[in-house]
Amino acid sequence: MLQTTFESPAAEALSAGAQAFLANIRAVAAVSPEVARAIVQELIDQRTNLKLIASENYCSLAVQSAMGNLLTDKYAEGVPFKRFYAGCDNVDRIEELARQTACKLFDKAHAYVQPHSGADANLVAFWAILSTKIEAPAFKELNTTDPNQLSRPDWEKIRQSLGNQRLLGMDLSAGGHLTHGYRRNVSSRMFDAYGYGVSPSTNLIDYDELQRIANDVRPLILLAGYSAYPRKINFARMREIADSVGAVLMVDMAHFAGLVAGKVFTGEFNPVPYAQVVTTTTHKTLRGPRGGMVLCDEEFAEQVDKGCPLVLGGPLPHVMAAKAVAFLEASRPEFSDYAHAIVKNSQSLSSALVANGCKVVTGGTDNHLVLVDVTPYGITGRQAESAVRECGITLNRNTIPFDANGPWYTSGLRLGTAATTTLGMREAEMKEIASILALVLSNTTPDKTDSGTSKAKYHVSPDAAGRARAKAQALLSDYPVYAELPLDALRKSAGMD
Ligand code: PLP
Repeated sequence: MLQTTFESPAAEALSAGAQAFLANIRAVAAVSPEVARAIVQELIDQRTNLKLIASENYCSLAVQSAMGNLLTDKYAEGVPFKRFYAGCDNVDRIEELARQTACKLFDKAHAYVQPHSGADANLVAFWAILSTKIEAPAFKELNTTDPNQLSRPDWEKIRQSLGNQRLLGMDLSAGGHLTHGYRRNVSSRMFDAYGYGVSPSTNLIDYDELQRIANDVRPLILLAGYSAYPRKINFARMREIADSVGAVLMVDMAHFAGLVAGKVFTGEFNPVPYAQVVTTTTHKTLRGPRGGMVLCDEEFAEQVDKGCPLVLGGPLPHVMAAKAVAFLEASRPEFSDYAHAIVKNSQSLSSALVANGCKVVTGGTDNHLVLVDVTPYGITGRQAESAVRECGITLNRNTIPFDANGPWYTSGLRLGTAATTTLGMREAEMKEIASILALVLSNTTPDKTDSGTSKAKYHVSPDAAGRARAKAQALLSDYPVYAELPLDALRKSAGMD
């Protein structure tokens, strides 16, 4: 029997979000104690490991509550007020609110909030651009706009007419994303994919070189955006390059959408006025639920809205509700303060790392992420990632430009400040984090093997590890993760005591 009321005498002392969270754990535990325990254990783990993963954050309990409810039951294929299912009135309202709030927040003509993830959003955008720019003439030639009228040979003709369109995106090895044309991703099967990198002397995008590549490639889509590039991008320049070769400028702002919403990236560094199509995730710096979104100019709106059936099936109404809540949160002035604090923190972290002798790629950062080159410590990114995690800090290894160790072992660490900033940490804590990282890295050595030096196994001096762990725990106890959640009551509700 599911418990529907919360009767603890301490209930009034808890925020509404915390009461809801606790009640949810009780309800889940009544069916699956194992799932309830895993959720509570995740909270415990997050409270005992400092999160520096650049693509993660802590979303609000309001966002989580909007996501965890009966809206998940609804099918709502189509778009607001034009559905393939009956009974979508409330989903219509929710999706319309999410898309209107997104349009206002980012100042773009159109928003499509159905993509389940950033990868889905990119697929929707690619197909919408193809359909707008390429498929329409093929359909016209076939004298129909109704796909159901088309025969197999018709579809063959369409495929051929779409064939060999070119995509020019940032190389994965230089900081781009898998979905930007990486050879093992479907993006490089859909398109004849080409890449641009960074300058070997500065590790920055060289716009003159990009122009030269674009002149050669003449892509249908010039794609800007990154997962691991620590600097601003000049989108005015990007649009100039795209226009000069007749390409559509698409920007994937998955990592820095929160910095756009929070008005840190303005003028030529704000992609929205310059790119015809913008994609994003909603769960990184934007601090919403896990999901994706496409923003676009009117020209692409019709095809973007055909994300279903082009790429997606039914949307996730509960996640769209959470997106609406997150976009409203991001529209508040406090969110702008938060976004500015993210960048101030990453700059403090980067300067403190340099002061502690670490090698920071490009020498600093303009955004929420810092790339550290760990080769001076004689270890790989993989060893560094594991050593740091052992000492209570979670981050991920990453390739650095021109990485000799490849994408598995790597030579770098990617650090982000979106999550620690949400916890309330500021410059002093960033300095402390930098000193912990330097302590661990400078006391980690690779293991020797019969064939040389291991790229995976390592040893951290126990004394340094102990000191690092104590410092990380001290920071976490000063800034507890989801401080309003009552851990003892949650443990009890999940049957963990
Ligand atoms: N685009 C960029 C730039 C990303 O960094 C990511 C994920 O890290 C994605 C797209 C894919 O997002 P998702 O993991 O939600 O599919």
